[in-house]
Amino acid sequence: MLFDLPTPGFSFELLATLGNARAGILHTPRGDIPTPVFMPVGTLGTVKGMTADELRAEPIDAKIILGNTYHLYLRPGLEVMEHAGGLHKFAAWDRPILTDSGGFQVFSLAAINEIDDDGVTFRSHIDGSKHRLTPEVSIHIQKVLGSDIMMCFDECPPGDAPEAKQEEALARTTAWAKRCRAAPRGPGQSLFGIVQGGIDGARRLRHMAEITKLDFDGHALGGLAVGEKIEETYRILDEVAHVLPAERPRYLMGVGTPADLERGIQAGIDMFDCVMPTRNARNGYLFTEGQRVNIPNAANRLDLGPIDPTCPCSTCRTHSRAYLRHLYVAKEILYARLATLHNLTFYARHVRRLRERILAEGTRA
Ligand SMILES: [Zn+2]
Repeated sequence: MLFDLPTPGFSFELLATLGNARAGILHTPRGDIPTPVFMPVGTLGTVKGMTADELRAEPIDAKIILGNTYHLYLRPGLEVMEHAGGLHKFAAWDRPILTDSGGFQVFSLAAINEIDDDGVTFRSHIDGSKHRLTPEVSIHIQKVLGSDIMMCFDECPPGDAPEAKQEEALARTTAWAKRCRAAPRGPGQSLFGIVQGGIDGARRLRHMAEITKLDFDGHALGGLAVGEKIEETYRILDEVAHVLPAERPRYLMGVGTPADLERGIQAGIDMFDCVMPTRNARNGYLFTEGQRVNIPNAANRLDLGPIDPTCPCSTCRTHSRAYLRHLYVAKEILYARLATLHNLTFYARHVRRLRERILAEGTRA
């Protein structure tokens, strides 16, 4: 079943369902994105350590990557981005890009000066300079970046914030979503709304009703896996993901482990992003079909086997655990590249396998 999305050039094709899990294709002017999909995070316009060619090539074959509005706005800044003609040209990445709104980073990284109904005033985590982000400014920055999927600017209160604060943030997020929806975008730029509400299922559903009324191209669940117990994350996923409109893509922001992705897909999520494969790689943690490999571990010192004999990535086909451990211990920069290539391959194959299972065992939509 093919559903046109509100932004011209975008459509969502549902191919099969298996319980609440779905397999589909998000069609965009810059290319098709088979879903479920894992989107590597390119915070500063780079998926750390990887070239665009490596990301595009098998076995990673990333169909879409993320860019971070907050980081790119502060550095290199809008003058450079405008001069370069947007993030695609600047980073030599011709496939779709999703940008977040900057909200999450402002609330987690910056020193907040003031939150009011109009926006947020904060100080840069780099040089302490003062900036103001509003829904309109966030959309303008994402317009200059030229992303294919923009996210609404939302307020992200800490999970343990008092009841009144949570409600205030929720009301603000809805008001800001309306302003984001009304702000001018460039051609080929879609916009996703974000459902907040913490780990209170009823509050999530209430907010979802407000956000889904606004006719966004897709919907995201924000504010999960931000410190709550994983069982709470899963409970909310099970309660709300399948209630999101079936004819639009569903995105779970910033989550998580390979097991989290599987649970999210089972609950009905189509899109994921997380720094885990790239960050863990640099920190010495490598994902495999069996146990996670902690590369600095002494057990790897004389191990001439690959990280994962079933992995088709060039790291596993070329190098041993002993060599990788040596590079890690010696702080050689090649280590980060080889490890990242492997972990991104693992995530890509993991999600592709789950998608294939839905297509093979599910009901044609
Ligand atoms: Zn590998």
